[in-house]
Amino acid sequence: MTEAAYDTDNIFAKILRGEIPSHRVYEDEAVIAFMDVMPQGPGHTLVVPKVPSRNLLDADPSIFGPLFTVVQRIAQAVKKAFSADGVTVMQFNEPASGQTVYHLHVHVIPRFNGVPLKPHTGEMEKSEVLAENAGKIRAALTTN
Ligand code: 5GP
Repeated sequence: MTEAAYDTDNIFAKILRGEIPSHRVYEDEAVIAFMDVMPQGPGHTLVVPKVPSRNLLDADPSIFGPLFTVVQRIAQAVKKAFSADGVTVMQFNEPASGQTVYHLHVHVIPRFNGVPLKPHTGEMEKSEVLAENAGKIRAALTTN
């Protein structure tokens, strides 16, 4: 089956262009990371390559090195920032898998023993909570 084309007006493309705000925790020439607005747990972060692709299926594989280097750094930082017991890394491709935003991204979520994930794209978190959590992650990144 042929998948839909990349939509340059998807929400992460707008965040990448600075057209809508986000709580950024990391940026380099290839990748940005920012807080998910409907977190499945405190510290839920999205790691996003700047180069456009709909998801993993149509991505140029040369981005996976830079992308997953940052995924690892963010995973280490959120574990430290939230004193988490573990970290879940998730990535969805096409609606059947649960994908809702069609620009490749990886979810990085701190996990705590016995605490289940909240629903995917559930409740919006308060901006001040996201800002505070972003600050904790930025601090952990600078001391890693
Ligand atoms: P997907 O379902 O495509 O794997 O994940 C998309 C994620 O983006 C969801 O976890 C959802 O909460 C998050 N999200 C949706 N809209 C926005 C937004 O405007 N800003 C941010 N930071 N996250 C968003």
